[in-house]
Amino acid sequence: MLVCTAARVSCDQCQIVRINGIPCHETGCPDSWDGATGECENCGCEFELTHRGHSFCDDSCAASYHGWPSEDAMEEEEDDQD
Ligand SMILES: [Zn+2]
Ligand SMILES: [Zn+2]
Repeated sequence: MLVCTAARVSCDQCQIVRINGIPCHETGCPDSWDGATGECENCGCEFELTHRGHSFCDDSCAASYHGWPSEDAMEEEEDDQD
C-alpha cells in the first residue's frame, strides 16, 4: 500500500521512485495500481483506481460496457417485504 506522509512516500512492496517529483511505484510492483488513475473503458473519463484491475469509473459504466442490465432496470425489482 502507498503511504503518503508530509515528507515521504513509501511502499511496502517496492522502492518508490520519483518521476518529475511525483512518487511512483517501481515497474512491476504489485501495488502499482494503488492511487493511480485510469481511463474508463466505457466513457473515457479519468478516475482513481480503487481496485486492482479496475477499468471503469463506476459500476454503471461497467454494466453499460458489458451490456449488463442498468441500475434503472434493476429499480423495477422492488422489494415487497415491507
Ligand atoms: Zn510499490
Ligand atoms: Zn465511465
